[in-house]
Amino acid sequence: MSATVTYDANNRLTIAGIDCQCGLTHHRPTQDIYVGRDLLVRVPEYVRTRGLGTHCVLVADNNTYPLAGERVEKALIEAGFSVILCVIHRKEAMDPDESACGEVLLSIQPETQFLVAVGSGSITDTTRINATRCMLPFVSVGTAPSMDGYTSVVAPLLLRGVKIHRAGVCPEIIVCDTELLCTAPLPMVCSGVGDVLGKYIAKADWMLGSILNGETYCDICGEIVTNAVEKLLDNIQEIRRRSEKGIRILIEALLLSGVTIMIIGNTRAVASVEHNIAHYWEMMQLLHGNPPPAHGASVGVATLLVWPLFTRFATEDLSKLDLNAIRQKCLTHEQREHWMLTAFEQEAGRTIMRENPGDFLSWEEQVRRVHTAQAKQADIRRALALLPPYEKIYTAMKALGAPITAAEMGVDDKLLNLSMHCAKDYRSRYTLFKLIDECGMEEEYLKDYPL
Ligand SMILES: [Zn+2]
Ligand SMILES: [Zn+2]
Repeated sequence: MSATVTYDANNRLTIAGIDCQCGLTHHRPTQDIYVGRDLLVRVPEYVRTRGLGTHCVLVADNNTYPLAGERVEKALIEAGFSVILCVIHRKEAMDPDESACGEVLLSIQPETQFLVAVGSGSITDTTRINATRCMLPFVSVGTAPSMDGYTSVVAPLLLRGVKIHRAGVCPEIIVCDTELLCTAPLPMVCSGVGDVLGKYIAKADWMLGSILNGETYCDICGEIVTNAVEKLLDNIQEIRRRSEKGIRILIEALLLSGVTIMIIGNTRAVASVEHNIAHYWEMMQLLHGNPPPAHGASVGVATLLVWPLFTRFATEDLSKLDLNAIRQKCLTHEQREHWMLTAFEQEAGRTIMRENPGDFLSWEEQVRRVHTAQAKQADIRRALALLPPYEKIYTAMKALGAPITAAEMGVDDKLLNLSMHCAKDYRSRYTLFKLIDECGMEEEYLKDYPL
């Protein structure tokens, strides 16, 4: 039983062997994902195969239009399609905000049958929300291997400067032209690698959720992500050189991470505490009018930050835990509410508390978790032992020239320290950070991050 990835003669990715006994319902991905050379001219053929229609709006920005949008537009027109162009012009990097979304919406006509997004995260999400609201299928032509959101069903957007997440549709067709992706600037490549390296932490946390809280862990999804991230680590030099081989490995890792979301219908295999920290940095920087750090690069830095805590926890002797001492450290309901509103500020703090009521833990439940952790210490150690050495990740990121510290991401000590403390509170999803807190060890583990 093992998932295998192959390509057919048309460069279409096929993933086989996703059946497993984990108990979760597995959905077979139905999207057409193409990875290979010279694919831009083949977009019309892919659209016909899928029967999406003949009238489209092509969305790009002033960077991606000359880079790839123009060629896709030409290919579509020559093949007899009717194309309405929506090129979003910005002096700085384009944001997926109400203005950009509005430009796409006003370009859509009654006869429009599908949308084509030519770009990476921002363009894809701007198109995704319009496709969702107008109930149109869309095609994603990726221009950078910078994040795993091509296959996502959530659109992170900006509304009046505030980060929001809206449910969205997945593109029916995803086209990743490797020659084009090789031209992506190195910081975008570093971002993609950071997003992938975070999967190690996501997997460890998922296993802990399964050991402590009876969550279902899917071996196949775990394996898909592990294989992808290991292959990526073995090819860091190729990726740094942005060779076709290296970039292909990177985009495959990003796409396959996304495929696990489609298979099990949630992001458990690909996002955990490292993403919480990255989201927090982004949310707070936006809230305070600062430029938000790149998503994947933040995930990479956060992965390095949390890693030593995972390694250290594996060496603990949990039998020595003292329930009375733990109880002394518990926050009351009011204290926790106050903490949430301090860490996340009013609006986000209230939303997070409303959406994660179970995170106000009863003492009985906390005792249950501590006792379970004590009884299953060997399983916890085994799960944590699956992580490669920290040095391997650090060296890979160094070799790549990726950011290593929060400071390089524009995150000051105050924001960094807060993020390490509230990473466990961002959502109910179980993490080692929650376990550390439940075992009364947070103060000790986070003493280098004073509040
Ligand atoms: Zn991510
Ligand atoms: Zn499964």
